Amino acid sequence: MKQFIYSFENEVNATIKKYKLLKKNEKTLVACSGGKDSITVLYILNKLGYNPEALIIDLHIGKYSDDNLKNLKQVCKEQGIKLHVVSIRKEFGCTPCYAKSLINSKGMNLSSCSICGIMKRYMLNKKARELGANKIATGHNLDDEAQTVLMNFFTCNVDAGLNTGPSTGVIKDKKFVQRVKPLFFSKESDVRKYSEAMNFPVIYDNCPCSTGSFRHEIKDKINQLEKDYPGTKINLVESFLKTVSEIRKNIPKGALKICKKCKEPTRNEKCSVCELFGKIKGFK
Ligand code: AMP
Ligand code: ZN
Repeated sequence: MKQFIYSFENEVNATIKKYKLLKKNEKTLVACSGGKDSITVLYILNKLGYNPEALIIDLHIGKYSDDNLKNLKQVCKEQGIKLHVVSIRKEFGCTPCYAKSLINSKGMNLSSCSICGIMKRYMLNKKARELGANKIATGHNLDDEAQTVLMNFFTCNVDAGLNTGPSTGVIKDKKFVQRVKPLFFSKESDVRKYSEAMNFPVIYDNCPCSTGSFRHEIKDKINQLEKDYPGTKINLVESFLKTVSEIRKNIPKGALKICKKCKEPTRNEKCSVCELFGKIKGFK
């Protein structure tokens, strides 16, 4: 097991170095759900001397959120890492679950994961900027990325993945904090093996709001393909990155706008949050 731990940490370090994800004199904030992936990133970045701070958005999903927060607090305390906690309810005036029922009562049919994802990304960028962070590191792993590539294809939404990669590439804007993914090339099974070997206090169950999601269905199918044809995940992600790097050459620099409602950075006239919440009277 010692050998595995050593080689896994080397793999993550190699991704950071090869793609120049982080610098030691920068302020790095790890976006932590309290799950195995983000805690692994937090622990390894700390071990490698990047002096990260942790930021968790409390999503108020009952015991699931409470346990994640408790676990993260324990890791931060043990490792001497500064922790920032932000309540999504306080910031938005409602939780993602509540937003889902309001939004869907207006005739839209958005999944919990889509709504939660939009709210989280918005809040992470805003808070990271307020905290003066240069980078936001997330726990996205190779499996997450392979799933996203296929999901975007299957929903005719390939544009949403144009900015993908170990670091967000296309968009450079002072209001937008660059996001990096040190586990981009690491398999979820390896992250789990590492987390278990390190005895991290984490919940291995999925978020209770995500059951029956499209992502879970795609995940099962990719896992089956990986079993039958080893290398499927990495090939899928590498092929997409190759294609995207060609397309990116034709995207004009500085394509970001400022949301006319909340002044946060966006690719459109209004950001996704204002677009979403604009549909519900009384919010945003
Ligand atoms: P998910 O969107 O749940 O697949 O999570 C992807 C990544 O987003 C995680 O690895 C974390 O880095 C980050 N993340 C997810 N949930 C939270 C949260 N509640 N607070 C802060 N960061 C989060
Ligand atoms: Zn906005």
